[in-house]
Amino acid sequence: MSFDQEHHLFTRTPSQPDAVPVIFAFPNTYSVGITSLGYQVIWALLAQRSDIQVSRLFTDAQETLPRHPELLGFSLSWELDYNHILDLLEALNIPIHTVQRDDEHPLVFGGGPVLTANPEPFANWFDVILLGDGEAVLAPFLDAYQACRGQSRSEQLLTLAQVPGVYVPSLYQVDYTETTGAIATITPQAESIPAVVQKQTHRSNTLLASTVVTPKAAWENIYMVEVVRSCPEMCRFCLASYLTLPFRTADLERSLLPAIERGLKVTNRLGLLGASVTQHPEFNDLLMHLAQPQYEDVRLSIASVRTNTVTEQLAQTLASRGTRSLTIAVESGSERLRAIVNKKLHNAEIEQAAINAQAGELKGLKLYGMVGIPGETPEDLEETIAMFAQLKKVAPHLKLTFGCSTFVPKSHTPFQWYGVDAQAKKRLKLLKKRLHALGVEFRPESYNWSVIQSLISRGDRRLTPLLELTRHYGDTLGSYKRAFKELRGQLPPLDFYVHEVWPESQTLPWSHLAGPLPVETLQKHLATAQALI
Ligand code: SF4
Repeated sequence: MSFDQEHHLFTRTPSQPDAVPVIFAFPNTYSVGITSLGYQVIWALLAQRSDIQVSRLFTDAQETLPRHPELLGFSLSWELDYNHILDLLEALNIPIHTVQRDDEHPLVFGGGPVLTANPEPFANWFDVILLGDGEAVLAPFLDAYQACRGQSRSEQLLTLAQVPGVYVPSLYQVDYTETTGAIATITPQAESIPAVVQKQTHRSNTLLASTVVTPKAAWENIYMVEVVRSCPEMCRFCLASYLTLPFRTADLERSLLPAIERGLKVTNRLGLLGASVTQHPEFNDLLMHLAQPQYEDVRLSIASVRTNTVTEQLAQTLASRGTRSLTIAVESGSERLRAIVNKKLHNAEIEQAAINAQAGELKGLKLYGMVGIPGETPEDLEETIAMFAQLKKVAPHLKLTFGCSTFVPKSHTPFQWYGVDAQAKKRLKLLKKRLHALGVEFRPESYNWSVIQSLISRGDRRLTPLLELTRHYGDTLGSYKRAFKELRGQLPPLDFYVHEVWPESQTLPWSHLAGPLPVETLQKHLATAQALI
């Protein structure tokens, strides 16, 4: 049984007799779910409350579930897992639409990065959505639930909607300019609830650390610590930065090192997590700490690092701790495009990173980039190819890989108004051919998948029936197109969501959900980018 092999790094609190029965689900397999640091930590927070009796549920494993759960929570970190949410609701005999549920059904709540970014395509399935950092919003939500427990469903929802960061979609009416047009207005349905729900922020120098280690995780026996949250670089397309601002760093002495010590008592696999871990101001001290002989057998995995922090020492330490290659995000070989996206990085720094990686005896360097960045021209692609040719020259022993995706507009970023560039598909093909000829391994992310991502990323509530249809058709772009055809006249076409550049005056599906920065600031950043195009 999956759960038997778990090492818990926290102590469960026994539940009091009248504890609220809660199911906390991850809409994917146990192996995937238990590797999500966010899921682990929220589960542990629930399990440490005496007023909650929590059971876990995955698509292929479950603890003993309560017969009458009062709350059913989902942590959603991958868009296409919505299929599994619907499957699990059906398996539990819970209607998938909020409007079909009554006082006998649990309140269905959700959280996690996908729902915080743009919950609207999924809004009709959730009674409650928790926006922002789980550590900040979970406890106030549960306390408010305790206070209205026993009341009718509608009274509960009204009470919960007044808690900062708690979004009750059914209490907001969305109207459209026309059935197939843009959103006209989003109106709260009660005076007591806010017109704009503010995403909540965890303000602390203690960040996340694994609460469970298991050989059944997708990264076997990994112990994860969050080194930083958000990223101060603010590349204009980047959700990982804009949605989670402000940039926070774990306190090295008081929180990070003690957390690492706790984890290394039960495993020797350590994952350092964060959008850009080497941005931690004491990252070198952390590295020196882990370079000590007592950590010789520790296997270290590190998320993407900032290019200009790839020193020979970093490469050496990582190579001696089992890391074979490093990943850096360069976005493009074109300095002009990097300026447009606000990536403060020069080709000379990328070359130096490659030289240092090779000198530190790493075997490979993986660069990440994108096609379809607003303003991209064929000349910019030539510059990317030229950059790789130069890297081959300066670091000939390094295996070079280029992981390349297509630009996808993300909510709450300055590029949220742009669409996906339909030229991107051709450009991926061109890069594949030309980089292959240079001996660079090219790993493109599927263009079709970028189109689906962008649909969900900029979707509104009219996508609900479409997502319910594609669930039965499969998750290919062809299935989505088929569903659009079937629903023609009931919602805008695919192009509207995916490719069109939206006017800045248009009401966005998430206009009533505030991220860390006001829309005026995003517009200023957009104008700065546009001046360079
Ligand atoms: S450096 Fe990376 S994580 Fe930071 S804003 Fe840019 S793309 Fe996002």
